[in-house]
Parts: sequence; C-alpha cells; structure tokens
Amino acid sequence: MTFSYQRRLFCPGPTPMPTANRHLLTVSDYHRQDEFVATFQACRQHLASLCHSKHYPALLTTSGTGVMEAAVVSLTNPHDKVLVIAGGKFGQRFQKLADIYNCDTTIYKPQPREGLDLTALETILTGQDKFHALFLQANETSTGIHYPLAAVAERVHKHQPDCLLVVDAISSIIAHEIRIDGWGLDCVIGAAHKGFGMPPSLSYAFLSERAKRKSSTRPRFYLDLHAELRQQESGNSRFTPAISTVIALKAVLDDLHNIGTTTLVKRHALLAKACHAAIKALGLQLYALRQHSAALTNIILPPPLKAQDFCAYLRATCQVQFAGGQTSDASTQILRLSHLGYVDPFDLVAAITALELGLKHFGVRFQAGAGVAAAVAVIVAGVDA
Ligand SMILES: *Cc1c(COP(=O)(O)O)cnc(C)c1O
Repeated sequence: MTFSYQRRLFCPGPTPMPTANRHLLTVSDYHRQDEFVATFQACRQHLASLCHSKHYPALLTTSGTGVMEAAVVSLTNPHDKVLVIAGGKFGQRFQKLADIYNCDTTIYKPQPREGLDLTALETILTGQDKFHALFLQANETSTGIHYPLAAVAERVHKHQPDCLLVVDAISSIIAHEIRIDGWGLDCVIGAAHKGFGMPPSLSYAFLSERAKRKSSTRPRFYLDLHAELRQQESGNSRFTPAISTVIALKAVLDDLHNIGTTTLVKRHALLAKACHAAIKALGLQLYALRQHSAALTNIILPPPLKAQDFCAYLRATCQVQFAGGQTSDASTQILRLSHLGYVDPFDLVAAITALELGLKHFGVRFQAGAGVAAAVAVIVAGVDA
C-alpha cells in the first residue's frame, strides 16, 4: 500500500525550513533604507550572541564554500605556512583552497572514523614549523565527527601563540556550543542553510581583533572579509545582500535567541542520542567511532547495499531525503541522516520509520519497529512534551 507524502529533508544542508517563517522569503525591500539596515544589524547581533562573541560577523551572499574561500583569501598571504586538519571532504576543501592560493600547506589527516587525536596534533604543533594559521572544521560533515574544538584551541594557543585559528563551524552552529571569544577563535564561519533552515544564499564570518589586524595583502574584491566587516560596522553590506533571506533569518534568530544556546545544544544532543539508539537496535553501525556530531548521524549500510540506491528509493517512494556518503573510504555505503536545525522529535521518528522501510525493501534483516522503539524510548525519557 502506498501513501501521499510531503517532502522531508534529513540531509545536512539545506536543512528543513521553519514553516511559520516561510512567507518572509517572499518579502523584498530596498537594502539601503533604515528598516532593512536595522534587520541586518539585528541578525549580526543575534549571531554574535549565539556564538558567544562580542564581535558581530560579516554577512556574505555566498554558499558555505564562498565564505571558506573568503577566509583563506583574506587571512593568508602566498607562501604562508598553514596547517589544515583534513579529516574528510570539508577539511580537504580547505586543503584545496590553501593549495590554490599558494599557501605552504601542512596536512594533519585524522583517521576518518576515529576523529582528532590531540596528541598527534600536539606533535605537529611542537615541531619546527611555525604556522601562520590553522584551518579546521568544527563538524566534519562527511564523517559525522565533531572535533574537540576547545581543546584544539587551547593546544594551539599554548604551542603556537601567533597562529590564527580559522574554524568552519557551518554544520556545527546551534548543534554544539561554540565560544568564539572564550576559546580565542580568530575566524569562525557559518551558513544560514545549515542550522537556521534558510534557503542557500547567506553565509557569515566572525573575525577576532587579531584577525582584523592580519589582513592579507592579496588582491581581492568581493570576498574581502576585512572590507566587508568595516562597511557592515557602519551600515550594511558593500553589495546587495540576500535580502529576503536576511528578513526571514531575523525571525528565525529571534526565535533561537529566545530558546537560548544551552537548550539548543541539549535538543541536538537528545536527537543524536535517539538516533544512535535506533541504529544500534537495528543492528547497524555508526560510521564515527567517537567524537560524534550532534548535528548528523552517519550510518554504515550493510554491504552490498549502496547509499545512493537507498536514498533514491526513499525519495521516490515516501519523499524522505537522506544524503549519501562523501568520504573516500567506504563512502558508497554511508548514509547521512541530519538532525540539525528545525528537526523535532516527531521528525526524527519519521526518519527512523523511513530507514526501516528502506531496510525492508532492500532485504536487510532486522526486527521491524526496533529502531523506532529505541528512538521513542530516548525521546520519551528526555522530552517534557
Ligand atoms: C555544508 C558545508 C560547507 C559548505 O558547503 P556549500 O555547499 O558551499 O554550502 C562547508 N563546510 C561544512 C563543514 C559543511 O557542512
């Protein structure tokens, strides 16, 4: 028997959009007039408070990769020694950018399923090379691993006090705590189509006082974080911003501000816990062995089942969208299930139900309902309705 379903997104970007604010995406306005500038500044202020910084970020009209590039171009010079933590696809993207922009790149490649080894990192940091900057993700979305950011920052400050810490927190913001000022992070970047459920269009970057002083001498124009920040401190963006997204984002950030970061982090932790319990009850394995991200869960499907076929089947039959793998090893078998942003406990139960429907279709043996029961048990224990 079949049903008519509505589309449900469980991919790690774009994430589901809160329905109550969708109408705002149709609003247009002139970005140089006072009312819009106030909205723009309110977004910057809310982002600063969510990330525990007294500095407001610059908003850019790019996807996440655009602001990654802006960070590399704005904060490095050719031949600067930089260290990149390349634990998966997004770390490799920083590596690629650093190479393209002629940095002298050193790579630390954690074992993809093991996460970041602080001792191995410390060995590099106490070696002969003095680094101008360290580039890393907070969540490596391809592996589903969340690096111990505060501990990394502490080691970097201790052994390489002049090294800039550049963090791609795109898939981590609101799922995990981030204390930009407290941890001494120099550049933190995010994007509104991850935690905030906006359509792709808007990214943002914070710069510390130190990063503001270390502006690159490279020629650059659109992706100039320093120029953008200077302009935004006295008004709004240099060029036409993603106007409708900014207007809708303000409503989302008002909401998230009222919820507060402590609760947001707890919510994500509970959904991740429920998801992990379901995976275990279904006899499947998590890809990450430790340092699990609370934003998404990466699952290893039993061979010879391919994630691509599994995703295609669920999209075609019940409009559920998971994502396939992105790492080089075993990626054809990795299914990525995002619970970042506007995903509630009922949504997660739907995701696990879809997972069970897919397993049944592909002939995987499991006890029907076991995944859902395990997830619901965690939810009922942890949620006060
Ligand atoms: C999604 C994501 C990006 C940005 O990807 P875009 O497709 O350019 O938006 C960058 N880093 C991480 C960790 C991500 O999850």
